[in-house]
Amino acid sequence: MKIMNEKRHGILMALAGVVALVASGCTEPEEKKVTTEKESPKIEEPLKVLIVTGGCCHDYEFQSAAMMAGIPKHAKVDINLVNEGKGTDAQIPLYDDPNWAKPYDVVIHNECFANTKDEAYIRKITEAHKAGTPAVVVHCAMHTYRSAQIDDWREFLGVTSKQHEHQSKYPVKVMAADHPVMKDFPTDWVTPMDELYIITKVWPKTTALATSKSEKTGEEYPVIWVNDFHGTRVFGTTYGHTNETFSDPVFIKLLADAVVWAAEKK
Ligand SMILES: [Zn+2]
Repeated sequence: MKIMNEKRHGILMALAGVVALVASGCTEPEEKKVTTEKESPKIEEPLKVLIVTGGCCHDYEFQSAAMMAGIPKHAKVDINLVNEGKGTDAQIPLYDDPNWAKPYDVVIHNECFANTKDEAYIRKITEAHKAGTPAVVVHCAMHTYRSAQIDDWREFLGVTSKQHEHQSKYPVKVMAADHPVMKDFPTDWVTPMDELYIITKVWPKTTALATSKSEKTGEEYPVIWVNDFHGTRVFGTTYGHTNETFSDPVFIKLLADAVVWAAEKK
């Protein structure tokens, strides 16, 4: 009954207030108004994505254009592009700034510098990812810094690869259909002409999401995986040699889903 009494008292006081306001002809000052506006819906910011590309052996202008046109069809992203460096042993100025990765939610590495081996230079890249910027690593990124003595880059990738097999149309066998990145991935996808990378080591924090089989030896290698690099999410695929692969909607959708998944952990 005490509650009822308090409630009734409150109602009476409120009524008295209304009567007083009407009587005085006053209106409440604007700033004292109690508003019951609903919270405005949260506007989702686009993910800030950086593509780092360049170097040997592939058509990076085409591949970058395909990603910049295709990924936004599946994910809300703002994509910046750094296409720098020629040959196999370049060092690009992007990494001179120790905060190079900070503005981005995800960095896509699609570069190819197999003979760059400067250890301090390589660690400028891996340290930025260790500090929390997720990554999507594509094709020749796996052979980048191949000549380096240190394993930092390979641990970051989640796989070690030094060579590849011939181009063919490789069937891709899904190993983890329930992983968020694979949710829309077909179970019967066959790559356009592409290279099969020989994986000599799968790092301990790596989970293979799909494999393909060597046409020469029958050995199965991870071709799509995720890695936990000191708490940072890394997604990788060894496919992406040809422009045909980058023109395949399945491949572009996979990269888009990878970007979204990787960014969740920033
Ligand atoms: Zn290639």
